[in-house]
Amino acid sequence: MIDSQTIERIVEQADIVDIISDFITLRRRGVNYIACCPFHDEKTPSFVVSPSKNIFKCFGCGKAGNSITFVMEHERLAYIDAIKYVGKKYGIEIIEKEQTAGEIALNSDRESMMIVSSFANSFFYNTLHNTDEGRAVGMSYFKERGFSKQTVEKFQLGYSPAKRNALSEAAIKAGYKEEFLLKTGLSIKREDGSLCDRFAGRAIFPIHSLSGRVIAFGGRILQTDKKTAKYLNSPESDIYLKRNVLYGIFFSRQAISRLDKCYLVEGYTDVISMYAAGVENVVASSGTSLTEEQIKLISRFSKNVTVLFDGDAAGIKASLRGIDMLLKAGLKVRVVLLPDGEDPDSFAKTHNSTELHNFLETAEQDFLTFKVNLLNKNSSGDPLKKVEIIHEIVKSISVIPDLITRSVYIKECSKTLEIEENALAKEIAANRRKQPVSDNYSEKEQNLPATEKSEDNSENKKLEENPADKSTVATVFETNIICNEQEKELLMFMLKYGRTKLFVTGNKHGADVYICVDEYIIQDFKHDDISFKNIQFKRIFDEYEKLLTESPDREQSFYAQYFIRHDEIAISSLAINLLTDTNMQENESYFVSPIWNGTDNVHIDIAKAIPKALAVYKSKILAMDRSELVLRLKKTEEEPYHLDILKKIKLIDEQRKCISDFLDRVLV
Ligand code: ATP
Ligand code: MN
Repeated sequence: MIDSQTIERIVEQADIVDIISDFITLRRRGVNYIACCPFHDEKTPSFVVSPSKNIFKCFGCGKAGNSITFVMEHERLAYIDAIKYVGKKYGIEIIEKEQTAGEIALNSDRESMMIVSSFANSFFYNTLHNTDEGRAVGMSYFKERGFSKQTVEKFQLGYSPAKRNALSEAAIKAGYKEEFLLKTGLSIKREDGSLCDRFAGRAIFPIHSLSGRVIAFGGRILQTDKKTAKYLNSPESDIYLKRNVLYGIFFSRQAISRLDKCYLVEGYTDVISMYAAGVENVVASSGTSLTEEQIKLISRFSKNVTVLFDGDAAGIKASLRGIDMLLKAGLKVRVVLLPDGEDPDSFAKTHNSTELHNFLETAEQDFLTFKVNLLNKNSSGDPLKKVEIIHEIVKSISVIPDLITRSVYIKECSKTLEIEENALAKEIAANRRKQPVSDNYSEKEQNLPATEKSEDNSENKKLEENPADKSTVATVFETNIICNEQEKELLMFMLKYGRTKLFVTGNKHGADVYICVDEYIIQDFKHDDISFKNIQFKRIFDEYEKLLTESPDREQSFYAQYFIRHDEIAISSLAINLLTDTNMQENESYFVSPIWNGTDNVHIDIAKAIPKALAVYKSKILAMDRSELVLRLKKTEEEPYHLDILKKIKLIDEQRKCISDFLDRVLV
């Protein structure tokens, strides 16, 4: 648990433009910022960020929230982790409490490991820049590789001295514990109990987590004669779970989401050289074969992956399996085959930025087309081979979650391989039936705005609670839907204009007596003993009332911000949608209604609109009550009951008449 003051400080510090800019590129538009929505596919921007209100809203998909909920949604983080992320960004120290002893131990262990890694990173960096050995051996190697000063700087490259225990000694001397040097694998314990450095004499490539902390290292040997491995990496540890990590992601994440494409290469030097040549949306799986976790990580930023293959074809076949996993994750996969004998690193270095960009664009081809052609080329008309190829291709197509994409491929492959579409389709269908259910993702992800989702839930719950009496259930269901609009409207009035004086009259001493919009609505509800049907709306209503009692004399924006910053994503998103529902996008005055900006004079429209909204709402409730009574009347056999029900209906009709008279007057 993080204490609430810290959370408050973090939420307050969090500048929404600053935070969102870390993930997508915002363009200024009047007082707001706009971008293409990161939560759904779109070509024209309908994602609006309001710095003054500290909120974002997409007018395309309806997603809305504050800076914390943005981080939660975009990074798929839990609330507390989003808070931590933002806290770290603003250098706010987070003190957690009420953790179990085990949690504390693990967390502080991991923290200690990160801290010692960060120390090692500085140590390697300093050695590279500020020692004779570092400059003579390390820096000249990087220069020879063609890495510029900025590139070395950007990726925080370093050098580990050749002396076998230089880092270990320095770390211990600086007060770091042996335990964490060993746990991170930076040091290795010799038989005699002394420590020796894992990376001694190597050029250092630090590996960063998604949020930019150093969690591991790769070290390249510099003497060519040695028999040891060219690259050494940190071992798997509590902070370095290899399957979760992509080299370069910290540097490239923004470019990947901005360009909606991710280049996938093999190693450190490929990433660095491509980045240096201006292709910044690049990551490496770094030694391991691609994992599901790495794929998930990529797909958070883009659904388009282009895999770069070295020219020496040998590795290609081995990589094909990994690429099927990309397809299975629903990604659009393309490949670029580099010229013979080149890898991304060498190619990027021997071509200028324009040449590289041009090449990547023109050489890129669809993965399955590439695979079919690759296999087909080697089959040379052998029918047995051809059967094998078809099975191979069928396997790949079968894992694609999207039906339409599958159909397109079936068509294309049937042409290339000269087999009937139908035969292919049948084979694929059979294959898909064999797959575990969880593999057959739903054809299309549901992407409803949060408000709609929550409404659906509450209604579903009601339906489940009462499965026996279908007609009553239907009525409850309909009431909810019919009243939704009115409830929304009333809530909107409270959030936007709650503190506006609705009626002002003088009392006998000549002082102003007034009632505010929120008080008026709350009192009216109490008077008629009604409450919102929609559970989410009711939550906001109830919390508003409580807030008003606790802190009565605050400005309107205080109450609005309370809900905008609400730690429940559904509430926050609902509130923001209510606050931004009218006047529509592109209108710059939109987020700043004049009433928000201080004037609390009687607003003529409000004075009419509130009583009217209340009246319409009540008349709808009455109408629903009435039809429920009518239904009961039809079902009830016993006479005396009838009379009772009829009386109630009559009462409702009188009330409705009153309301409609009132509405007539108000509307005139
Ligand atoms: P050379 O100068 O001989 O070409 P290199 O440093 O470019 O050496 P390559 O053998 O060409 O290395 O390997 C290409 C990429 O693969 C490099 O970016 C490197 O990061 C990565 N790589 C190679 N071996 C490993 C390994 N064992 N672990 C992690 N990455 C590796
Ligand atoms: Mn190389």
